[in-house]
Amino acid sequence: MSHVPAAPPEIVVDLAALRHNVRRLREVAGVPTMTVVKADAYGHGMVEVARAAREAGAEWLGVATVDEAVALRAAGDDGRVLCWLHAPDQVFVPAVAADVEVTASTLDELERIARAAAEAGRVAAVQLKIDTGLSRNGATADAWPGLVDRARAGEVDGSWRITGIWSHFACSDEPEHPANDAQEQAFLDALAIAEAAGLRPEVRHLANSAAGILRPSSRFDLVRFGLASYGLDPAPGHTPDLGLVPAMTLRAPLVSAKPVHAGAGVSYGHTWIADTATTVGLVPLGYGDGIPRHASSRAQVLVDGKKRTMRGRVCMDQFVIDLDGDLPGAGTDVVLFGPGTAGEPTAQEWADAADTISYEIVTRVGGRMTRMSRRYVDS
Ligand SMILES: *Cc1c(COP(=O)(O)O)cnc(C)c1O
Repeated sequence: MSHVPAAPPEIVVDLAALRHNVRRLREVAGVPTMTVVKADAYGHGMVEVARAAREAGAEWLGVATVDEAVALRAAGDDGRVLCWLHAPDQVFVPAVAADVEVTASTLDELERIARAAAEAGRVAAVQLKIDTGLSRNGATADAWPGLVDRARAGEVDGSWRITGIWSHFACSDEPEHPANDAQEQAFLDALAIAEAAGLRPEVRHLANSAAGILRPSSRFDLVRFGLASYGLDPAPGHTPDLGLVPAMTLRAPLVSAKPVHAGAGVSYGHTWIADTATTVGLVPLGYGDGIPRHASSRAQVLVDGKKRTMRGRVCMDQFVIDLDGDLPGAGTDVVLFGPGTAGEPTAQEWADAADTISYEIVTRVGGRMTRMSRRYVDS
């Protein structure tokens, strides 16, 4: 039997698409932008995405953790970086030493950041977070006046600089949701209290991708663009066509193809049974690689120019597709999702098939690098 080496499963990330998206979003927002690269850049690779975003003019990078921010510095990024999710016993010294801006939601965090700054021999750059209604972190409205008073006092005595005040929306993907107006008003109230306390932060920011695109009043001095930077739609059904290009393509080689007879059950539990004779193909990716099991029998892939539907349950390492009588050779390219320009499904179509959001599709696949490699193209 002849052997044609097939490319192993891989994620292909188009850096040109990323740069295009970052530039386009900067144009749309009309204010400086932060490219959010947390969770390994939503599965696209944090360091490479950060570099592309900077090349495209991103003034800021945003990450969840201190560790992510410090990794950006270790990779050579020297621009402005903000992080916002701290462990209860977070050690801030590496962040302050690396000139990363850290978020404080409580007096305790402020004091610990000040101690880290003393240890690092630097003045920490701190941004204050107000909870305007997401109920994740951020100071409560009740705690806010005390926090800004202490923040101002520490600024005066040289303990830290307060560089920003910010918050985060809960429902920005539903532009008509009343929580958006309420949160923006709560943010304005918090800004007024901070101003009365004497704080003059350089950046005030509230908007993520959906709000940055759909809610101009929420843009303030900076928009934090995550998902849209990767070319995906943060508010399906609401977002105008901005010409963003999905940057991630997921592909794998077909393992095998074979006929099955009418009545054959496919995959665990026989949840799908062939009603006529057909052919099926095996794709070597499964939920162990981040393929959502919820997409079983619903998601589609592109093989030989045609969309093919998954049959039966997604397994740990593999799934089966209906080849409708075709018998492509082993090694034939299977495109699970991509920009959609060659007829392949998009991450959004996978999200629809799995009853989830495209954020989860790209992030969970990109988080599973054990059997897949990532390849960067710059077309
Ligand atoms: C993830 C995140 C963002 C980016 O959100 P998108 O909807 O992907 O644009 C912005 N701000 C904060 C605080 C986040 O956690």
